[in-house]
Amino acid sequence: MKSITAVCPGSFDPITFGHIDIIKRASSMFDKVIVVVMKNADKVSTFTVEERLDMIRKSISDIPNIEIDSYNGLLADYTKIHNARVIVKGLRAVSDFEYEFQMALTNKKLNQNTETLFLTTSAEYMYLSSSMVKLIGSMGGDIRDFVPECIHDFIISRLNGKGSK
Ligand code: ADP
Repeated sequence: MKSITAVCPGSFDPITFGHIDIIKRASSMFDKVIVVVMKNADKVSTFTVEERLDMIRKSISDIPNIEIDSYNGLLADYTKIHNARVIVKGLRAVSDFEYEFQMALTNKKLNQNTETLFLTTSAEYMYLSSSMVKLIGSMGGDIRDFVPECIHDFIISRLNGKGSK
């Protein structure tokens, strides 16, 4: 039987319940799911790649068939190297669509063997993004509904200027 590997790429700066929902659903569909932190030169990140990987490890240790990785390069190359057939992305709103559509077509052009699969966000996470978590957390708001308890204190202390960077 053919074993299918999927990747869930993103910045995960930091991982939220929205990401976790997409990762869980991907894990139930594919034999192996690689969650990959993409080092995007365009995006200024708050957390280091190591910190993001560590938060992901802590947050999804209970989900089966998962590997966690980071990559500094093109997603199309990553999928080739790892023989991944599917890129799983979450779609929140129409605002995500144009960018994601362009990325999907570009990735297809660069690697014909990979398909992009869009999963509709779960309704309760429709508004949720890493930047919203950072905004609320840095202004003293409660982010417990948005991120797992095991990484909550770390996020808050980093947003308030403690730790590395
Ligand atoms: P963000 O846009 O929050 O910075 P990332 O770049 O880390 O997120 O996104 C990685 C993937 O996770 C993307 O496919 C994005 O659409 C998806 N995603 C992020 N937040 C949610 C959410 N609340 N619901 C569904 N998908 C999400």
